[in-house]
Amino acid sequence: MKLGIQVEHLDKRFGDFRAVKDVSFQAREGAITALLGPSGSGKSTVLRMIAGLERPDAGRVWVGGEELTNASVQERRLGFVFQHYALFRHMTVRQNVAFGLSVRHVDKPAQRGRVTELLELVGLAPLGDRYPDQLSGGQRQRVALARALAPRPKVLLLDEPFGALDARVRQELRRWLDNLHRELQVTSLFVTHDQEEALELANEVVVMRAGTIEQVGSPQDIYNKPASPFVAGFVGAANVLRGHVWEGHVHFGRSAVAGAYHLDDGLTAQAYIRPHDVGIRFEPGPMSFPVTVRRRTNLGWMSKLVLEMADGQTLLAQLPNEELMGVVAGREVYADLRNAKVFASPPTSHDQEELAPV
Ligand code: ADP
Ligand code: MG
Repeated sequence: MKLGIQVEHLDKRFGDFRAVKDVSFQAREGAITALLGPSGSGKSTVLRMIAGLERPDAGRVWVGGEELTNASVQERRLGFVFQHYALFRHMTVRQNVAFGLSVRHVDKPAQRGRVTELLELVGLAPLGDRYPDQLSGGQRQRVALARALAPRPKVLLLDEPFGALDARVRQELRRWLDNLHRELQVTSLFVTHDQEEALELANEVVVMRAGTIEQVGSPQDIYNKPASPFVAGFVGAANVLRGHVWEGHVHFGRSAVAGAYHLDDGLTAQAYIRPHDVGIRFEPGPMSFPVTVRRRTNLGWMSKLVLEMADGQTLLAQLPNEELMGVVAGREVYADLRNAKVFASPPTSHDQEELAPV
């Protein structure tokens, strides 16, 4: 029995362009699954194929154990919320929320009861008689969500629902959606290009790149055990240091970082390191190396540092100000690197130059 949402071998072309390539994954029943990837990676196309708004060239779709590959949008009975899924401007909030019930011929008293219930759920009960133009962006998206939930859909499909809102409102709605999901436990598939949003909201993350799946895993796995350089770079890392593997470390000039025990000596490798995994010390330590502070930007409780390594590579660091007393541009300090994610890199012309005798 395949519960939740399951897609197998989905493929979609637009003309000569293959937007989705053999995509298979499962969104667990009752969980929030995020489809995370950069713009153009095929996330919306996958969601639209599940919704029945786009026809796959190949592959199959199941929802709640039922195959829906060839079902119409109406037969699927799924709820959607899109970034620009505008509310009906000439209808009040209550009428908007009731829309899906009236097209399904639910009787009027039952509609009224359900609409009241949903407006309470999304915290908009006092605003039922307003028109969409009289609401904030965040309130409108909550109405859109109430409208999607009203007919009790089997699953909820959300395509960058907060994408058009400002950062503070997005944060608020994220927390709000998280609470709502805890209460309702409706199977949800959530498209986003924002890694923080995916890690914060989802129980499971499906990372997409150029029409294919790069990794499927829990937020912890995606963050701590990225399966590819793409995932390591997309989910949080700002530093990519290139060097050569020797005895489990990647060496760059006189510095080195651990994390390469899975790679053979002599290989060229890339170490992905997050800015908050760079430590600063004032005396040399066992694994530290000298760096020159090129720039310090103070952001209140912490600072961002631009550091230059002896071999000329740049390292970005982010540390609490209490650890940075006296650290100013021009000063030489020592850096330590933690939690490097190391991947072998194919040799490039750039490496050939680096290796060539001078
Ligand atoms: P995402 O949601 O990850 O940003 P999309 O699924 O919207 O990506 O698009 C994936 C790729 O397919 C993009 O290159 C986009 O331009 C292309 N694409 C999407 N829809 C169409 C369409 N209807 N016609 C032509 N190309 C499309
Ligand atoms: Mg999209």
